Formats: sequence, structure tokens, C-alpha cells
Amino acid sequence: MKTIGLIGGLSWESTTDYYRYINTFVKEELGGLHSAKCLLYSFDFEEIVELQHNGEWEKATQCMIDAAKTLENGGADVIVICTNTMHKMAREVEEAVGIPLIHIADATAVKIKEQNLKSVGLLGTNFTMEQDFYKERLAQHGIDVIIPDEEDRQTVHSVIFNELCKGEFKQESREAYLQVMNRLQEKGAEGVILGCTEIPLLVKQTDTEIPLFDTALLHAVAAAEFALERRKKPEMVQI
Ligand code: GLU
Repeated sequence: MKTIGLIGGLSWESTTDYYRYINTFVKEELGGLHSAKCLLYSFDFEEIVELQHNGEWEKATQCMIDAAKTLENGGADVIVICTNTMHKMAREVEEAVGIPLIHIADATAVKIKEQNLKSVGLLGTNFTMEQDFYKERLAQHGIDVIIPDEEDRQTVHSVIFNELCKGEFKQESREAYLQVMNRLQEKGAEGVILGCTEIPLLVKQTDTEIPLFDTALLHAVAAAEFALERRKKPEMVQI
């Protein structure tokens, strides 16, 4: 079994899900007392949020590279960045280490293509929704991405940082998200990517009929499949 190097704490609320999903997969596949071989580098999220919101992306990139190198030196065989937003520097991170990185958007794209969907809505931080790094990656898979209008983007972003990453899950925010999803559907979305790893803690598939893509789950399972050599890196796109 390969050792998975997790870059987490972004926020830890969703990193715990990654750990659970990866171990559940390994347990189901191998049975007995088997569990996943993992290393976790967990950030103090406040420090990273400050860099993100000040636009200090070079410093943030260096933090991610240092974390990946620490994991590699500790024996990790593969890097998994447990957040969508910090895939902004996925290329730089992968180039800085000698082990592969499983990209969250690739793992998500595989599932979207399995369901034969072409246009999907994207919910995430403003960085993920507005900048190109994530949408372009999906476009390389032939997937069209629809993002919410500005007011809705603000709502989605502020709920992530003011509630979800603090472990607060409010009914009024769930309803607001469902309304944003309805508007994405009206704009032509056939499904919605929960493109922030904490959103699946708030909104579940049972809350709506529109197909949802839980990026934390899909990414974690892709990592576990790779570790057990059940699957190669999900349909690699060169980065
Ligand atoms: N976990 C969130 C995401 O998937 C936000 C974390 C961050 O800002 O890095 O994008």
C-alpha cells in the first residue's frame, strides 16, 4: 500500500472527513484490521486565510511547497491537498516534489463525466469561483462551469469562512445555498460541484434533486484507490 501525504487543516473540519473516507475505503477493500498509511501536515488555518485574503499568494505557495516536501521526506508516496482553493498552486507543488499529486478537480471531473454531464455549477470560495485555475482545469476535461452571480458568490464565500470552517452549520445558510443552486440550475447547470471541502458538511444530496459532486469525498476516494493501486491517478491532465 502506498503512503498518502495529506496537506490538511484547510480547514480541519473537512480534513477529518478525508481521514475517515480514506480509512473507510481501505477497510472496505482489504477487510480485517486494515487501515490507510497516511501522513498529515496540518496547517494553522488562520495563518493561511490571512495570506489568501491579503493576496499573498507567493508566500502561500511557499507554505504549500514546504508542507509537501515535509511529507515527501517523511515517506509519502503521493500528495493530496485537502482543499479546493489551494489547488491554485497545485502545479508549483507538484513540480517541487518527486512524487505525484492527485488533483481535486481531476477526481471530480471523472465523476461528472461518468454521469455524462456537460455543464455544472461551481460553489466554493471566491478564489475558486472567480479565478481561472479551477475552471480551466475542468474545461480541460470538456466540462463547462457556471458560477453564481456576484451577490450569491459573496453569500457562498462568507458562509464558508464565517461558519463552515468554524464548524457552524445553520439551517438558514443551507437554505441560502439551495437557492443559489436553484439559480445555477436556471442558468443551465445540470449538476453542482461542492467545490469547497466544507460545503458537504452543510448541504447533502438528500437536500436537493440536482446531482451534487462532493469534492472532498471524490478526492479522498481517488487517493485511496491510488494508494491501493486500484486505479491510476484520475485521468491525468498535464499541469
Ligand atoms: N476548504 C475550502 C476549499 O475547499 C476553503 C479552504 C481554503 O480557503 O483554503 O476551498
